[in-house]
Amino acid sequence: MNAQSPHSFPPEIPLAQSAARRAGAVLTIDLAAIQANFRLLRARANGLDCAAVVKADAYGLGAAQVAPALAAAGCRRFFVAHLEEGIALRQVLPDEEIFVLHGLPRDTEIEALNHRLIPVLNTLGQVDAWAGLARSRERRLPAVLHVDTGMARLGLTEADVRVIANDPARLDGLTLRYVMSHLAAAEDPSNPSNARQLQRFEQLRTQLPPTPASFANSSGVFLGAAFHFDLLRPGAALYGVAPVPGRDNPMHPVVRLQGRVLQVATVPAGSPVGYNGRFVADGAMRVATVSVGYADGFPRTLGNRAAAGCDGARLPVIGAVSMDMITLDVSALPDNRLYPGALVDVIGGDADSLDAVAAKGGTIAYEILTSLGSRYWRHYTGAEAAPLHPHSR
Ligand SMILES: *Cc1c(COP(=O)(O)O)cnc(C)c1O
Repeated sequence: MNAQSPHSFPPEIPLAQSAARRAGAVLTIDLAAIQANFRLLRARANGLDCAAVVKADAYGLGAAQVAPALAAAGCRRFFVAHLEEGIALRQVLPDEEIFVLHGLPRDTEIEALNHRLIPVLNTLGQVDAWAGLARSRERRLPAVLHVDTGMARLGLTEADVRVIANDPARLDGLTLRYVMSHLAAAEDPSNPSNARQLQRFEQLRTQLPPTPASFANSSGVFLGAAFHFDLLRPGAALYGVAPVPGRDNPMHPVVRLQGRVLQVATVPAGSPVGYNGRFVADGAMRVATVSVGYADGFPRTLGNRAAAGCDGARLPVIGAVSMDMITLDVSALPDNRLYPGALVDVIGGDADSLDAVAAKGGTIAYEILTSLGSRYWRHYTGAEAAPLHPHSR
């Protein structure tokens, strides 16, 4: 067995792709699964509109690939966090609506206008600047008003809403597309803050001009119809994250991370494995070293915790996670199954699921996704359903 073996690559990856052959790990992103997740969320909302949140480069999965796939599945509205993300997204989405959650930094309003971006206005200052531009151009500009309903993070306060209610001319020039708010604990259906925020949202809406509303993130979609309003705003669930942790995950898995085996060795009982000997072999054991580490976003907290997988076998991570490597107990596999160059599942497939990796690492799947490494060879599947717009090339 050697690295040239054709069995060392997933059959769908052409051997001619030399970047794939060089890479220490392969990240497969299933665009068809993202499309299926979009349809599933939209179906839950019974004919309501469903946007897609693609901030942070579509949660680390690549907005330039993910957003056109979602558009091909019928998504017409996209949310990013930063203005800069909106400008980049406009290159691949010429026709869809793009909303900027952070609103606009001072004196960037014209750039947002030039790229046909719709700001989410979080402060009275942002309202005044955007409305001021509309009035100076003698045209109406679209906007979303974000009201804070109990997070104290972003959005107009109750006092700000009262200011607008007492001086509605402040909105002159704006076409309000939505009034929105964001849930602080939607993934926990038993948390009383959900109902409290809902009540405050409904109350604040009555003080503003009648406008469609948007409230639910991924988990909010699963809190029931009272939380749906006019536009759903899921992110994580599109990418396969369980909307209610600990319950059955209705979403299709989207990411599969496969790491390349660097070497396999049989070690005797008593051998320490990895930095500081945080694992000691209790019997003779086969150890495979795999080229994924914390520099690739595989959390160091997963030392001695997570399990990789191959051919249906669980391959426990033993010892510490290094910067560029993990060590696995592969005794469960036949001696000749793994060899340098072979790939094993590290997230998804036969390994722990994305959600399990996050839970074992003491974090959330959002953080695992957005930390996925830049050294992976990224392989998109299902892309035939999502032709890239020519401008994106
Ligand atoms: C990130 C974000 C979302 C999407 O949240 P998910 O939990 O990923 O579905 C929706 N709305 C706002 C305001 C956000 O910041």
